[in-house]
Amino acid sequence: MIPFIDLQAQRARLGPALEEAVLKVIRSGAYIMGPEIAAFETALAAFGQAPHALTCASGTDALILPLMAWGIGPGDAVFCPAFTFAATAEVMPLVGASPVFVDILPATYNLDPGKLEAAILAVKAKGDLTPRAIIAVDLFGQPADYPAIAEVARRHGLKLIADSAQGFGCTLDGKHPIHWADCATTSFFPAKPLGCYGDGGAVLTKDARLHDLLVSLRVHGQAVKSDLEGRTFEHDPKYLAMRVGTNSRMDTIQAAVLLQKLAIFADEIAARNRVADRYAEGLGDIVSVPSVIDGGVSVWAQYTIETDDRDGLAAALRAKEVPTAVYYPIPLHRQAPYAGYPAGDMSVTDEKAGRVISLPMHAYLEPDAQDQVIAAIRAHIKRN
Ligand SMILES: *Cc1c(COP(=O)(O)O)cnc(C)c1O
Repeated sequence: MIPFIDLQAQRARLGPALEEAVLKVIRSGAYIMGPEIAAFETALAAFGQAPHALTCASGTDALILPLMAWGIGPGDAVFCPAFTFAATAEVMPLVGASPVFVDILPATYNLDPGKLEAAILAVKAKGDLTPRAIIAVDLFGQPADYPAIAEVARRHGLKLIADSAQGFGCTLDGKHPIHWADCATTSFFPAKPLGCYGDGGAVLTKDARLHDLLVSLRVHGQAVKSDLEGRTFEHDPKYLAMRVGTNSRMDTIQAAVLLQKLAIFADEIAARNRVADRYAEGLGDIVSVPSVIDGGVSVWAQYTIETDDRDGLAAALRAKEVPTAVYYPIPLHRQAPYAGYPAGDMSVTDEKAGRVISLPMHAYLEPDAQDQVIAAIRAHIKRN
């Protein structure tokens, strides 16, 4: 079987330095919030063109923490696509708020700014929920239409989160999503474009006060610098709980792994784009291949094509040792936990969910193996 994602090829490239970095943490004993955490946060902020970056336990927590910081909860509406991983919408009920599902653009699978505005107006007209925030998703690795979405957010006074779990490193006109969003979040789940060897996540922000609140929320609402200004305490302020937070620290070992991986990430993004170009050249004449927003650079978390004969294609490829995957067969507005929340016209989402199929995609996919994938797809389509 050709690997769908090849983490071992990446590990071989990183070599003994990666294992040495992990061993260094093990020998140091600084397993929690060791120096690699701050070093990685600095490097991540620089890479992502953000003044601040905070690591946390997962990409899911990276979405929850800003919602907590903004006090979003019961009675509040947060707008998001339904054509995404469950985590994007799951965080709203987790803080007591309601997700409001919005349809996507047919060319990019990302939030439709026109339908977003219509959904906000519908919620305002109904009056039972207060619009508070938008979570845009950089699905399959490409940036959402941030200039248009940020304009809608500004007009309605809403916070904007870029859920870049699949898209960290993507750009639009050379700028990262944080240029338009109040915060950008990512996941370091191993299969994401920038993954670690376990769970992890991060929140990038432009706003120093928000970053400070996130630092506090990540460790049980601990007192942070801005809480202590102009105040004195009889006891060690380390154990002052200023607000209800949680435990969402990332392990030091994961930061050590990520420091190694971040160093080759730009090169891997370029390699992923070469793989995407080869697919487009090899398949563009016979099947619907992905299109990227004008001015956008995708990090290609997935390479997703469309077909009316998904099951047939998947079976034909499997017979030729080519794995495929479907992201996402059931959009969130049709799944049991989310069925009760508002959703407007979801016709594009519903259509895409029945047609999409993703091909092997990673930075180490060799041209020979990729040509095998392309040949298998061409053979199947010509036969039918
Ligand atoms: C993976 C993913 C998440 C959640 O990340 P975890 O680290 O697994 O919690 C959130 N949003 C999207 C779009 C994702 O793909």
